[in-house]
Amino acid sequence: MVDGGLSGEASYRRPTGLAALRRSLLDLLFPPRCVVCRTRGDWLCLRCRPQLTLVDPPVCPRCGAPLAGAPCPLCAVERPPVAGLRFSGFHEGALRHAVHRLKFSGERYLAEPLGTLLATSWRQAPLPGEVLVPVPLHRTREASRGYNQAVLLARVTGRELGLPVLAGGLVRTRETPSQTGLDRRARLTNLRGAFRWTAGPCPERPVLIDDVTTTGATLAACAEALRQAGARRVYALVLARAHSGR
Ligand SMILES: [Zn+2]
Ligand SMILES: [Zn+2]
Repeated sequence: MVDGGLSGEASYRRPTGLAALRRSLLDLLFPPRCVVCRTRGDWLCLRCRPQLTLVDPPVCPRCGAPLAGAPCPLCAVERPPVAGLRFSGFHEGALRHAVHRLKFSGERYLAEPLGTLLATSWRQAPLPGEVLVPVPLHRTREASRGYNQAVLLARVTGRELGLPVLAGGLVRTRETPSQTGLDRRARLTNLRGAFRWTAGPCPERPVLIDDVTTTGATLAACAEALRQAGARRVYALVLARAHSGR
């Protein structure tokens, strides 16, 4: 159903200005490796590039899936967790490898090309959001990883789109048990009250930024916390969406 709306072409632009200079110095010291085959040179080599399948417009204005008819069959099955969702691709192939390496292998530089992919998805089908809000990790998780990948992505995307990033306002107040193996309803229960806005007045139209969404439970719980703090409409921009459910 979705295959018609995916393309094998990776469209991302190189960083400019100071970011480009820093990137090229880092590349000299630590040449990036392909996220799939580990060849040195670029984050995704030419041979593996066809493994990057991105969502192409037109997309459903609500859930961001490749448009497969009206009304959207995905939205008909389940309401999206936010007023509008955009995602760059599905959680498979090169994108899945890249997310895994950004999160678990400390390959922070991947935030640059991946944040650019997010910006491209937004430009192709913009939503009326005004400020980027990365989905927070619990502070103990962030301390052990050393960074929050959603913050790294949001910084690059914000720079590309000219949108401000508000990191630290939305906090995760408790560490939740692993979501793996839980269905959407169980995940929602698991996450209830796990997020809180702590930074004064909440922007009216925030855009949540995250690396992966599976059932959408995390986005729904974050959106709920933002609405309680005064947000009118909450949007989300996510790198990879799992195929099954949201
Ligand atoms: Zn490769
Ligand atoms: Zn839809």
